[in-house]
Amino acid sequence: MAKVPSIGVTPYFITAIFMELDDAFFMRKALQQAERAFAEDEVPVGAVVVSNGQIIGTGYNQSERLHDVTAHAEMIAITAAQEYLGAKYLKNCTLYVTLEPCTMCAGALYWSQVDKIVIAARDPKRGFDRLTENILHPKTEVVWDIMADEGAALMSDFFKKLR
Ligand SMILES: [Zn+2]
Repeated sequence: MAKVPSIGVTPYFITAIFMELDDAFFMRKALQQAERAFAEDEVPVGAVVVSNGQIIGTGYNQSERLHDVTAHAEMIAITAAQEYLGAKYLKNCTLYVTLEPCTMCAGALYWSQVDKIVIAARDPKRGFDRLTENILHPKTEVVWDIMADEGAALMSDFFKKLR
């Protein structure tokens, strides 16, 4: 086997691969949260907040159990992360969520000033992206379609189960 030559572009290439692995790794954690919601007959959406490669907040939809329409996965994960940090701004944090946030959660994410949001499945009916105006914080980066099929499959399985 030929030795990989050390050329200038290699580090960037490797960095890109690891970033992608990271996103899939943490999205899997968010999907595990969504599975918990599924098991509890809640709409299966899960979220985790990551800071410096560490999960500092998790959440899954608990609207039925808590009789609370605001108990979305993102809201719970944001609150948990803020409590962990002892701060209201999610500086240097990334939120991973299995379904495109609704406008309520996008509003909360705006107030949190989170650095980055990574989204699995899209939600054309209730997702924030159907708005023409960007309601996220201007500094917030959005990454779409990470493990989108897995996120969407949980949703369709759930609604099949309801029928
Ligand atoms: Zn929401």
